[in-house]
Amino acid sequence: MNASVFLADLTWPEAECRIGAGAPVILPLGATEQHGHHMPLNVDVVIPTFISERVARATGALVAPTVPYGNRSQPRSGGGPAFAGTINLSAHTFSLVVRDVIVELHRQKVHRIVVLNGHYENVWPSIEGIELALDAVGRDEGSGLSILRMDHWEFVRPQTIDQIFPNGFPGIELEHASVLETSLMLAIRPNQVDLGRSLHDGPAKFRPYDRFPRPPVEVPPSGVLSMTEGASAEKGEWLLEDCVSRMVEIIKEEFQLGQ
Ligand code: ZN
Ligand code: MN
Repeated sequence: MNASVFLADLTWPEAECRIGAGAPVILPLGATEQHGHHMPLNVDVVIPTFISERVARATGALVAPTVPYGNRSQPRSGGGPAFAGTINLSAHTFSLVVRDVIVELHRQKVHRIVVLNGHYENVWPSIEGIELALDAVGRDEGSGLSILRMDHWEFVRPQTIDQIFPNGFPGIELEHASVLETSLMLAIRPNQVDLGRSLHDGPAKFRPYDRFPRPPVEVPPSGVLSMTEGASAEKGEWLLEDCVSRMVEIIKEEFQLGQ
C-alpha cells in the first residue's frame, strides 16, 4: 500500500480507495512571493504544505497539491508587487481556483475538506472561493460537504507568542519574512535559510491607509517587514507544535474522526 499522504503521489485506484474510505482532504494555499534576502520565494508554499503533511499523518487525511500562487501581495503585509519573483493572482482568479478545486473534490465524493492557508492576502479570497463552491454545490445537508478554513498563524498559542516576543508582538501582518516565518523555515528547511544574509531595515512604519497606484515608499527595501533577529529552529518547532496539535484536535472533533 502507498503510505504517502500526498494525493498526487497516489495512483488513481489508490486515490479512489482512500477517498472511498472517507479520508478528509486538506488543500494548502500558498503564494510565490519575496521573503527578504535570506529566504526563497516559496516560503508561503513550504510552511502550509509541511503543516498539512503532519496534520494529515495524525488524522488520516490526504493533502491535495498546494496552490502555489496567491492573491496579490500587498505592501503592508507582504511587501507588494515591486520585488523580483513575486507572482500574483488577482483575488478573482484566486477565489475561482479555490472554488474549482473544492467543486472537483466534491464531485469525487470528498465530503470533508480543510483549506489550510499560508499567505496573509489569501484570507478573504479563500473565503470567497469557499462561498462560490457552496453556491455551486449547495449548502444544505444534501450536498454532504463540510469545509474548515484555517490560517496557520491563528493556531499559535498566546503563551508561545509571549515566549518568542518578550518585548511585544509587532502583529501578524508585519511578521512577513520576519521572526515567525524565519523560525518555521529554520525548523522545516534549514538549508533554504541563510541567516548571514538576513538584512532587515524594519520594523516598517506604515501609514494606516493604502495608496494606489504607486507602491508606498514605506516598504523596507530588504522586503523584511519586521525583524529577523531572534529567529531559531527551536522557536519554529514550538510554532509547529502549536499549529499541528490544535489543528489535529479541531479536525478530529469537527469531522468526528475516531479518537
Ligand atoms: Zn510568507
Ligand atoms: Mn505571504
